[in-house]
Amino acid sequence: MQVTEIYDGISELIEASHIKINEPLKKYTYTKTGGNADIYITPVKYSEIQKVIQFANEHQIPVTYLGNGSNIIIRDGGIRGIVISLLGLTEVQVEVDTIIASSGAAIIEVSRIARDHHLTGLEFACGIPGSIGGAVYMNAGAYGGEVKDVIESATVVNQAGEIITLTNEELQLDYRTSIIQAEHYVVLEATFKLERGDINLIQSQMDILTERREDKQPLEYPSCGSVFRRPPGHFAGQLIQEAGLQGHRIGGVEVSKKHAGFIVNVNNGTATDYELMIAHVQKNVLENSGIELHPEVRVIGEKL
Ligand code: FAD
Repeated sequence: MQVTEIYDGISELIEASHIKINEPLKKYTYTKTGGNADIYITPVKYSEIQKVIQFANEHQIPVTYLGNGSNIIIRDGGIRGIVISLLGLTEVQVEVDTIIASSGAAIIEVSRIARDHHLTGLEFACGIPGSIGGAVYMNAGAYGGEVKDVIESATVVNQAGEIITLTNEELQLDYRTSIIQAEHYVVLEATFKLERGDINLIQSQMDILTERREDKQPLEYPSCGSVFRRPPGHFAGQLIQEAGLQGHRIGGVEVSKKHAGFIVNVNNGTATDYELMIAHVQKNVLENSGIELHPEVRVIGEKL
């Protein structure tokens, strides 16, 4: 199907102002890299997502989901078909000790809402720059906490376009993984079960974690956070540091001098630079330590 035909079909399903053609995705990624999407849409209702998935199924159009773009490298050739940004779904409701957050809400914002309602449990997320959907997909975690600890359920759309709700167990959350990845579900919303807490203690814990993050991470540069998964019994950053790679540059990207687990975009780097650097780091760490590093960041889209 031609891009203009996809556009015509989709514009019968969602408002035309929420559809863009040939949209540069580097606008939406934390690394500031990535090519264009054929069609980029920002639905604001769950039913719109369902309809778009059904339309895409009918016409065999590939669909890609994007949250806050903080754990993704989109190749420089961009993405064919439809990219659905979930960032139009931002509703957050608090009911006693439960928070129901739509997938496009920022998890940082949700952790602040929890604090403001004297609810403890989401402090770990106060510096994770992802959306709720991305955080569930990745089972995001930091400083000893993870989504798995506090999520009660998630409502998703399956590949047939049906809405289903999965419990904590059914989500199969583990280190940076969930059933969402294997089944290609799209997260619509998540329900978190928290506990009553002291707002001052919650705030001081958030302050401590924020300070730690600012001390250790190169937040002044575009990046996608920790590029590699933690190999069992090791820390990726330490292995990269020991391989002498800190400060190594390919094109416009560099292994951070502040935190070796981060690859920062210091000078108009591209997704190609990122991919070359990831391969370079993997090769050198393997040679130096015998340990294989696997990316945590999702690399998607087409090469130029
Ligand atoms: P995206 O990057 O947009 O997408 C990531 C993956 O999730 C993609 O495959 C995408 O298709 C999928 N996805 C997104 N939304 C949905 C949805 N609604 N339904 C289905 N699939 C979806 N991560 C941590 O765990 N802990 C940290 O401490 C941490 N620190 C970070 C610090 C920095 C500076 C940066 C840049 C990143 C950090 N990250 C961290 C990584 C990242 O923030 C998390 O993985 C986050 O959960 C990704 O969410 P996102 O919305 O940005 O997802």
